[in-house]
Amino acid sequence: MERKNIWTTYSEQQLQELDSINEKYKACLDAGKTERECVEITIRMAEEAGYRNLKDVQAAGESLKAGDKVYAVNMDKMLALFRIGSEPISSGMNILGAHIDSPRIDVKQNPLYENEGFSYLDTHYYGGIKKYQWVAQPLALHGVVVKKDGTVEKVCIGEEASDPVFVITDLLVHLAQEQLEKKASKVIEGEKLDLLIGNCPLEEVLEAGSDSRKKEQKDAVKANVLRLLKEKYNMDEEDFYSAELEIVPAGKARDCGIDRSMILSYGQDDRVCAFTSLFAMLDVKKAKKTGCCLLVDKEEIGSVGATGMHSRFFENTVAELIAMTEGESELKVRRALSSSRMLSSDVSAAYDPMFAEAFEKRSSAFFANGITFNKFTGSRGKSGSNDANAEYIAALRKAMDDAGVAYQFAELGRVDLGGGGTIAYIMANYGMEVIDSGVAVLNMHAPYEVSSKADVYEAVKGYRAFLKM
Ligand code: MN
Ligand code: MN
Repeated sequence: MERKNIWTTYSEQQLQELDSINEKYKACLDAGKTERECVEITIRMAEEAGYRNLKDVQAAGESLKAGDKVYAVNMDKMLALFRIGSEPISSGMNILGAHIDSPRIDVKQNPLYENEGFSYLDTHYYGGIKKYQWVAQPLALHGVVVKKDGTVEKVCIGEEASDPVFVITDLLVHLAQEQLEKKASKVIEGEKLDLLIGNCPLEEVLEAGSDSRKKEQKDAVKANVLRLLKEKYNMDEEDFYSAELEIVPAGKARDCGIDRSMILSYGQDDRVCAFTSLFAMLDVKKAKKTGCCLLVDKEEIGSVGATGMHSRFFENTVAELIAMTEGESELKVRRALSSSRMLSSDVSAAYDPMFAEAFEKRSSAFFANGITFNKFTGSRGKSGSNDANAEYIAALRKAMDDAGVAYQFAELGRVDLGGGGTIAYIMANYGMEVIDSGVAVLNMHAPYEVSSKADVYEAVKGYRAFLKM
């Protein structure tokens, strides 16, 4: 089948829209480097577009009717937006799903220590990373510290030009003969991914009036870090127990290439699908089917836990909506779920000529070829995959073609080489029509991933078309 680079097909007006979408996308990447931050900006944008918190609507004793827009949040890490359609919810929804957690390095619960005059935070990485990629580069610290009285201190250090950044050190090449003989999976090991955060000891004047004599106290560098944390965040060492601090690459999303055709940024898996789904959700004003944009956490570690796709949050929320529109009915909840259609969006592996051996060219996703559909994912003979129904795919092809959306069908790399899963199979358990779709990226899961601006644009167009199906 013919592959077509879509850049040359755009009109001046389309190029303008493409640019404005990508500028908005980059701003969202910069503001949303953790799942909590993504939820925060999503709520802000949704409220600006007239969405209301479902809890507030319920507290006011209101019901819901066609055209109403609500959102529901789960633990500040997962959320769902709904725009009620003119048809009953029990006849099925059009659901856009994507995940907002990204591979990163998490701070442990008892992390702070000092070693030979350096102070470090001990870490445990999150999701699948090539550990050697995360050393010797500027890192930022994002997250929350929750104190016993319930107050939440937000932490974000390393993003402003005037902020300090952090680093995980690597061994100098001059002394790396032995290190460089190791397998890449062992070159940097998990327990060596500790974050360097200080080198200056706390100074303690022994007695007033003594000739500026200072005492080196034990672990004085760590003590100084604690002093600064107290000053800035009113936090004690024990407060690390109830903190969620994530270490991510510092800095902003950038245009990539002299032609500015690509974006280089942290966290594009899977925020490139999450934000484009969100943009489309906020763009589409009217549809027969109830539209939903579902942004979930914990995909990178198996969609487990209270904020992952396996949680009952979504199902429970749909039950609330049914109660508010058609009257409480367990059967109607089941009908709503089983009659729904979903684009389960996640990044796809873009064909990389530098690693051609990992791909089968005819079934690869190419940059600037549009939104990618994967009939199935999985590994070792499609294991663990949702295999989308041919009838559903045919309906999607029609919707995309009718709306002039560029799309391609692909698999994740060469058969027998590995593979991956998404949230598709979980939603498919309800019996709904689900297909994996999304945007192709280069060096997925690296600190900086590359996407094509044209594909970002086509994703938004494709999601809009889907919501109107
Ligand atoms: Mn993903
Ligand atoms: Mn991933």
